[in-house]
Amino acid sequence: MQDYGSFDDDDDKKGKGKSGKAIKDWDCPTCEANNPTDEPISNSSELRCNYCGNEFTVSFSDTGKMKFKEI
Ligand SMILES: [Zn+2]
Repeated sequence: MQDYGSFDDDDDKKGKGKSGKAIKDWDCPTCEANNPTDEPISNSSELRCNYCGNEFTVSFSDTGKMKFKEI
């Protein structure tokens, strides 16, 4: 597999972390609601779902995927 510099392994517009573009929305891993944010999401941002109220710390994997850890 070649790396073309713009890794696109996702099925929609999620996972923009690696290219350095600001991510301003996220999908709650608990209830799968899409939550917009005012500020770009970065590594170790703390997010709270507007729908179920769960809070998460975000980290990014090597491939730019967002990973959530429940607080
Ligand atoms: Zn939620």
